[in-house]
Amino acid sequence: MYATKYAKATSLQDAVAKLAAADDGKFLGGGQTLLATMKQRLAAPSDLIDVTKIPELKGITVEGDTIVVGAASTHSEVAQSADIQRLLPVLSGLAATIGDPAVRNMGTMGGSVANNDPAADYPAALLGLNATVTTSKGSYAAEEFFTGIFETALDEDEIIVKIAFPIPQKAAYEKFRNPASRYSLCSVFVAMTADGPRVAVTGSGNDGVFRVAEMEAALASNWSADAVSGITIDPDTMLSDIHGSAEYRAHLVTVLAARAVAKAG
Ligand SMILES: Cc1cc2nc3c(=O)[nH]c(=O)nc-3n(C[C@H](O)[C@H](O)[C@H](O)COP(=O)(O)OP(=O)(O)OC[C@H]3O[C@@H](n4cnc5c(N)ncnc54)[C@H](O)[C@@H]3O)c2cc1C
Repeated sequence: MYATKYAKATSLQDAVAKLAAADDGKFLGGGQTLLATMKQRLAAPSDLIDVTKIPELKGITVEGDTIVVGAASTHSEVAQSADIQRLLPVLSGLAATIGDPAVRNMGTMGGSVANNDPAADYPAALLGLNATVTTSKGSYAAEEFFTGIFETALDEDEIIVKIAFPIPQKAAYEKFRNPASRYSLCSVFVAMTADGPRVAVTGSGNDGVFRVAEMEAALASNWSADAVSGITIDPDTMLSDIHGSAEYRAHLVTVLAARAVAKAG
């Protein structure tokens, strides 16, 4: 790991000013991705600006029929939130599957969403629930926020402040883990939202998290596992690596979508 400077930001303006003053600074969330990358010498920021103590990024609230999660909320806080467990249990359940207790106690929703790892779990929930990402510069529908593997709509000096999840009529998440890393090899999030069914897949897409329009159309007329169990995914759109071929992942999408629909009830 190369030498770096650490500073705690006290406000959004303070964080942006500290980043502007740095040679090559980076915002720091829980450090569960960034510090590991630095240890491997794959990143060498001159300055780390910790955004997790900024008041606007803290807290989980219920606003009408929406759950609003501050970006600095840890995965453990999401998993253990009584409001989320009561109103959006699929999200607390998903958070509880992330990594191990150390990762969940440090890693934040904002950091995970900003990172947009192709195998991360939260992006599926954001896309599956049509969440809105509010930043220091504006707000984005999940659809426009995730722009490709490890790519988002964020500018270098843009901070995720909070994420708003509309509460669906029903939803479920089926995670197929890589048993070694515990990241998703393929996972499917399904929801019946106010605007109809949504199906989002993580861990498998060539371009990162994606929706399956054909499954959504089938579920709109018939919410049942049978409605999706015959719908196949083109392996050419799937990732392929030592953990699973594109064909294997494509098959998993169909199997997991059917299981998720059945689980959602
Ligand atoms: C062993 C292990 C297992 C894991 N398993 C899983 C898993 O099963 N599922 C899963 O989804 N993830 C998993 N992760 C990743 C974990 O969820 C990380 O916490 C997450 O990817 C990054 O969040 P962080 O808060 O630690 O961000 P950091 O590592 O601090 O930052 C990551 C990136 O986000 C940027 N950033 C951080 N906060 C903000 C913000 N508020 N606004 C804008 N940019 C910001 C940083 O500049 C950096 O580029 C695992 C990690 C480890 C180490």
